[in-house]
Order: sequence, then structure tokens, then C-alpha cells
Amino acid sequence: MAGFDPGEIVALAALEVQDRGYQLFSRGKVLEGTRQRQRYSARVQGSAPYPYRVWIDLEKQDWGCTCPYTWGPVCKHVVALAYAIQEAPELFQAKRRRKKTTDPRQLALQELPDEDLLELLWELAEQRPELMEEFAYNLLQRAE
Ligand SMILES: [Zn+2]
Repeated sequence: MAGFDPGEIVALAALEVQDRGYQLFSRGKVLEGTRQRQRYSARVQGSAPYPYRVWIDLEKQDWGCTCPYTWGPVCKHVVALAYAIQEAPELFQAKRRRKKTTDPRQLALQELPDEDLLELLWELAEQRPELMEEFAYNLLQRAE
């Protein structure tokens, strides 16, 4: 593992935050882990209705989370992810390089102008409101 240790990130958090983060990890709340070189990412399900997106880049010594926590440099979701990297590296599957798609549906989407994509999104929203809700929620988290 290059220069940076996930434990160093944990140590930046307040003790209480470390505790909560460890609990999230040990209760299996770190989901969909992926790894691309030294960059680990996952979704961490906290008390919010949808999981937050969390990532840690050991090489760049950088990390982030989509939650609104601003009371310290490291939130409990990042702590949970750091513990997962240390104690359960098998959770993280190497991300396959996104290959050029040959899927005709995807190719067709890439050709569409923005207005048509928006139109499609709205249609989707009517048919699958729960999907749109999660999409909008994640966008809002990102904007905060
Ligand atoms: Zn967070």
C-alpha cells in the first residue's frame, strides 16, 4: 500500500465519529465497494434514506463523502470506508476499465441532444418515481 494508511484517516476523526464509523462498517453498511488502483469507493448506508457515496484515494491522500457533515475533516462514512479497506479488502472489486460500448441502446443515447435526454428522464420519472427520487436526492447531496 502506497505512502498513506487508512488508519491515518481514521485518526483524524473525533473519537465518537471513529466509533460510529466502526459500527457502520461492522454492521455491514459499506456497500458496493470498488477499487481503481489506490482509489477506493463505496456507498455507505447511514441513517439517511439513501446511502452516501464515499471515496478514499490513498495515493493522492484525499477523500470525500456526499453527506452534509462539516464538523470535522472526516465523517463517520469515511471512517467506515477506511476500516473496510483495512479489515475487509475483499469488499472491493477492481473496477473494470469502462470499455467502449457496443450496446446499440447506449450508443443511441450518446447521440441524443440534452433536451431529448431530459425528456427521457421525465418519462422515466413518471414510470419509476422511486428511481428518480434517489437520483434527485443524490444530486442534492452533491450540491450541498
Ligand atoms: Zn459522510
